[in-house]
Amino acid sequence: MKTIFEKSDNSGGIFLTDESTDINFISSAYLRKDKIGLPQLGELEVMRHYKELSDMNFCIEKGFYPLGSCTMKYNPKVNELLAALNGFTDLHPCSDDEHSQGALKLMYNLQEALKKITGMSAVTLQPAAGAHGELTGMMIIKKYFESINDNRKKVLIPDSAHGTNPASAHMCGFEIVPVKSNEKGQVDIDDLKRLIDKDVAAIMMTNPNTLGLFEEKVLEISKLMHDNGSLLYYDGANSNAILGYTNPKLMGFDVVHINLHKTFATPHGGGGPGAGPVGVVEKLKEFLPTPIVGYDGEKYFRNYNLKNSIGSVKGFYGNFGVMIRAYAYILMMGDNLKNATENAVLNANYIKEKLKKYYHLPYDEPCMHEFVLTGEKQKEENGVSTLNIAKRLMDGNTHPPTVYFPLIVHEAIMIEPTESETKAKLDEFIQTMIDIAREAKENPQKVLSAPHTTPVKKVDETLAARHPDLAFKE
Ligand SMILES: *Cc1c(COP(=O)(O)O)cnc(C)c1O
Repeated sequence: MKTIFEKSDNSGGIFLTDESTDINFISSAYLRKDKIGLPQLGELEVMRHYKELSDMNFCIEKGFYPLGSCTMKYNPKVNELLAALNGFTDLHPCSDDEHSQGALKLMYNLQEALKKITGMSAVTLQPAAGAHGELTGMMIIKKYFESINDNRKKVLIPDSAHGTNPASAHMCGFEIVPVKSNEKGQVDIDDLKRLIDKDVAAIMMTNPNTLGLFEEKVLEISKLMHDNGSLLYYDGANSNAILGYTNPKLMGFDVVHINLHKTFATPHGGGGPGAGPVGVVEKLKEFLPTPIVGYDGEKYFRNYNLKNSIGSVKGFYGNFGVMIRAYAYILMMGDNLKNATENAVLNANYIKEKLKKYYHLPYDEPCMHEFVLTGEKQKEENGVSTLNIAKRLMDGNTHPPTVYFPLIVHEAIMIEPTESETKAKLDEFIQTMIDIAREAKENPQKVLSAPHTTPVKKVDETLAARHPDLAFKE
């Protein structure tokens, strides 16, 4: 496809009257010497250009998107409508409390809903994403230990964790200590016991973990940690596996973040806005970033008055537009949030059981909202790697699953169907995966050279990462 510069035909997209091009009032020192060099095309051609570009893109509205750990589910369009209400979009973040009651009420109610969902005592909505929530949570943990004059330096992190966990803890100055997983894909308790000492500030855990497995020993782990004076951090990016069934508080956690943009159906990806609210137990309330939203029985207000606050972690109050969408979703679902969890877990188990004959399943256990297969069988027998399988899926109008993560599984293919897909769609995906497994045997070249039908074919990923060529040059 041509760029808009190449399409430019100098037909002139706009007509300016003499008055509007009268620039005599501008001092010549400030006038442009050369032509501006913008492409010239008629309005309709511009529209067609961008429509064509958007058609090349893949999105949840276009096809199945089983990207493990990312929860790419349907985002109800009514959320968009609500987020676009003038009362919200025209409100200036510097407006005082009195003139922002509606927005503050929404934030307060969302805080309350998240308290109920997580079991935590207080919640901040400020962090702009999951990783930002982790950073906020770890800063709170750091400050808590400083406040009791306990200079603990280590944070334990299971080797199956999302990469942002060690990154966030490291940014707070903690030393990262990896904890091994056992043959069941869960935290190895013996390894954990060996690592616990008085220098351990916290453990960061994801439950279900990134293999999609529920950590059955979580209560034993939280007792071990608390007995040692350590805290427990819960990475709740994808909480659609537990909503209404359990919560981080019941599992013994002290700090938690939730990705609103994953768990509560707000569009994300491509670096778009997210929100990673953080909840804490009672004893950590005073450390939350300010402001949090309070309610005195009459009025909603921004509370800047927290004794040990870590300070502000984001300009103003966080990504408000994401909060509106998530709040609308939570209100709309009500007690049915539990059904979302049920369906997410059922859908993942359904696909897993149907595919385990065709692909290696490293942990043959009931899974939660996602599970991990591998392409090892195909690699060994047919020389077809997980990357090739992922590329071939694109020919079936499917976004590839997350691949080569978690790092502890070779040739990992991490599948998360989410709750919002129909059985027919799941069956279609299962059939595509079976077809690819057969093709890998019968015609491996077809898989190796995929994708065949996408606008951009096989790319040199190393070159693309090391020497990206992003600018149009004439
Ligand atoms: C997505 C994800 C994160 C990071 O969230 P971002 O919003 O991308 O920063 C952290 N942990 C897990 C388990 C995740 O799936």
